[in-house]
Amino acid sequence: MTKTASSVWNECLSFIQDNIKQQAYKTWFEPIKPIKLSGEALTIQVPSKFFYEWLEEHYIKLLRVALVKQLGEDAKLIYDVRMENNYSSSNPHTVKIPSSNRNPITSQGVTVPVDINKRELKNPFIIPGIQKVKIESQLNPNYNFQSFVEGDSNRLARSAGMAVANKPGGTSFNPLLVYGGVGLGKTHIAHAIGVEIKDKYPDKTVLYISSEKFTQQYIDSVKSNSRNDFIHFYQMIDVLIIDDVQFLSGKTGTQDVFFHIFNHLHQNGKQVILTSDKAPVDMQDIEQRLLSRFKWGLSAELQAPDYETRVSILQNKLYRDGVEMPYEIVEYIAKNIKSNVRELEGVLISMIAQASFNRKEFTLALAKQIVDKFVKNTKREVSIDYIQKIVSNYFELDVATLQSKTRKRHIVQARQLAMYFAKRMTKASLASIGSQIGKRDHATVLHACKTVDNLTETDKQFRKYVDDLTKKLTF
Ligand code: ADP
Ligand code: MG
Repeated sequence: MTKTASSVWNECLSFIQDNIKQQAYKTWFEPIKPIKLSGEALTIQVPSKFFYEWLEEHYIKLLRVALVKQLGEDAKLIYDVRMENNYSSSNPHTVKIPSSNRNPITSQGVTVPVDINKRELKNPFIIPGIQKVKIESQLNPNYNFQSFVEGDSNRLARSAGMAVANKPGGTSFNPLLVYGGVGLGKTHIAHAIGVEIKDKYPDKTVLYISSEKFTQQYIDSVKSNSRNDFIHFYQMIDVLIIDDVQFLSGKTGTQDVFFHIFNHLHQNGKQVILTSDKAPVDMQDIEQRLLSRFKWGLSAELQAPDYETRVSILQNKLYRDGVEMPYEIVEYIAKNIKSNVRELEGVLISMIAQASFNRKEFTLALAKQIVDKFVKNTKREVSIDYIQKIVSNYFELDVATLQSKTRKRHIVQARQLAMYFAKRMTKASLASIGSQIGKRDHATVLHACKTVDNLTETDKQFRKYVDDLTKKLTF
């Protein structure tokens, strides 16, 4: 019997049904319709963008296993998203994810829509030969210029980015450094430049990488004696995009290697794009020679968007998600969430989720409730340094002792508490928390978090520590 979209999907469903709770199955899998099978690619229709994101976040592994069973290792999944139109009765229309009608960025081997095989960074340590090796760009095609709303707050960065995309390596904006606070669109614009370049110059090799990953790869290369391969690899790139370079602060080895890569690329007319949460003048623990390179090109700041831009960003997102929302609610959100686009989007996502889960309408009351929650939760993000200071003070230690290698019990506990709070109160990864708190690895941090959780439940005195510190850290 030949396979059809429905036959394949039915087999997947019976496997999925055996592996998740009945309620979850009903909610997330029953509404899906298989619509097309071509080769190893199955297209399924989902009721909304939110639905798609939920599946991607929670069930992608399961889906993958199910699909691979049916279609083999090369199985691909494509979502077809029905755009719901809550307010007008016009026929619902559908879009493919990604919804911006973009062509997939294929020439480097990145496949979109969602290619479930390629979600992780491929090991870049291919020994470079004569011919070009395939390098995945790591670009997210949804972060493009079309979806990046222009406003006074971002005009300089946006147009410099466009200029660079038109002529990579050929403008005086080299490097282009985009800086600004959290959630203001640095990562988005960094991808957008790369995506635009791939559109215009499909043959150029573009690579997006976070400084954190870059650092990790460098450390690994040193461990495995392949530092030169690491450098060669990066020297082959035509457009190198490094996100959050502030993360390189204090990491002299990585800075050193980056310096050499940078010089090579720059001398050969290759483009470098950087982002940072600080202006170069405010960066600390970055070597002077590297800082001076950062200043060679253009530094463009992303500022917090003004009211009109916030409204446009919200409307743009609603439009892309195919959701309609009364204007007064949009205004309300834009008036109350001011300093961070990610939060602006967060409120919208919560609204859409709440409304569709509880079959609630979009009301001003619901908006107020959600906005309040956001404002409360994000009073300010504390830094890992601050946490270490507070915890050390509380236990009457100095920070150096907290970070030291000693195994004395009370110091170990203090250190574990610092790690636990860093995990809870910052967005830093386990690895980066570990490296900042006495150069430990991520497993140590994970262990610390578990230990604190356990002790909080079983040990009264310990619970008091946690409560006291929570108070100190939140006020
Ligand atoms: P950063 O890297 O500066 O912390 P991001 O690039 O991750 O911020 O942006 C946070 C979110 O806000 C992303 O989902 C991004 O798409 C969105 N965003 C930021 N600025 C804009 C803009 N001008 N138009 C549309 N979306 C934006
Ligand atoms: Mg970012």
